[in-house]
Amino acid sequence: MTTPLHPETLAIRAGRDVTEFNEHSLPLFLTSSFMTGSAEEARQLFAGEHDGFTYSRFTNPTVDAFQRRLAALEGGERCQATASGMAAIHAAIFTLLSSGDHIVASQSLFGASYNMLATLLPRFGIEVTFVSATDLGAWKQAIRPNTKLFFLETPSNPLTELTDIRAVADIAHDAGAILAVDNCFCSPALQRPLEHGADLVIHSATKFLDGQGRVLGGAVVGSNALVEPIYVYVRSTGPTLSAFNAWLLLGGMETLFVRMERQCASAQKLAEWLQNQPSVRRVHYPGLSSHPQYELARRQQSAPGAIVSFDVEGGREAAWKIIDSTQLISRTGNLGDVKTTITHPATTTHGRLSQETRDAAGVGEGLLRLSVGLEHPDDLIADLARGLEG
Ligand SMILES: *Cc1c(COP(=O)(O)O)cnc(C)c1O
Repeated sequence: MTTPLHPETLAIRAGRDVTEFNEHSLPLFLTSSFMTGSAEEARQLFAGEHDGFTYSRFTNPTVDAFQRRLAALEGGERCQATASGMAAIHAAIFTLLSSGDHIVASQSLFGASYNMLATLLPRFGIEVTFVSATDLGAWKQAIRPNTKLFFLETPSNPLTELTDIRAVADIAHDAGAILAVDNCFCSPALQRPLEHGADLVIHSATKFLDGQGRVLGGAVVGSNALVEPIYVYVRSTGPTLSAFNAWLLLGGMETLFVRMERQCASAQKLAEWLQNQPSVRRVHYPGLSSHPQYELARRQQSAPGAIVSFDVEGGREAAWKIIDSTQLISRTGNLGDVKTTITHPATTTHGRLSQETRDAAGVGEGLLRLSVGLEHPDDLIADLARGLEG
């Protein structure tokens, strides 16, 4: 090919290797190990003297296809797949850091990510400083001589706060640290953090990459130099992505771009409608001009995303009434599905955090988070209106 392929094409074509049977659909390799032609070939494979498949904890052709497709979409040299998004974050941190190192992280993180950083890592001698996602001065001030990693999500969960990836990458690199960005909320269809200076992209493939809420999966994408030791860590500790999950994720990725385009358009419509409801105090959506980082969103993302959060008058009681009045929208914590979902973060995804941490993150009792799917937006509006009335 003379001209580089567009991402929409890569989502469908990248990572495909046709076997001797000329199958048109991607095959699923359900096998734990692979045979060798001779004892000498086995020796060479295990010594890493040439590429090939030995055992599915190391790699598997279906998982490899997923890795090559996601690497192509993110514009990274290499991808390491993992069993879940948390396994990806865990593997990246435990590979790249040692006892005595320090992380600067956004305080607006997914609940489990926050818990890992705040409570697990200190037990292993890794220090973490949490800073406001949007305050660049705070990121700079948190640097210590032993700072090795900057970690953030943008847009954040659930408030859709954006962090300027380029600006934080510059601060990290000046300090000799690397920047890892959890790109779960956007997927590579809307944002490619490596192009903005990030060193690693982390995914929960469970969300938009699958798109249908079927399986767990995760990934880390970056340069060969950064991802090779993460591969060795995953190979040695076992949080490998299963071939079956990789196969479903590859199918999900084929429709990623059209899903995202439509889900973002519906999210925009819902956000605008919610903004005009008298009992809605505030709508958090990067596609509204009232969003404090509307301009950054336009610069950094190709669309505002499918996640809309909103604060209602009347605290928990009013928020729960909206959830319990829905007849169509799913009451579940997952996001990124073609089925629209609704969550009360303060008592679910962020329920294990202390009141103080929730307050600092702006997760109040009246806050609801929607992950907008592919249903007709008017049906979603009618469903939300039931609980908002009166
Ligand atoms: C869901 C999620 C994760 C964790 O992914 P799992 O696949 O559930 O382990 C990490 N980060 C963000 C932003 C998420 O939404």
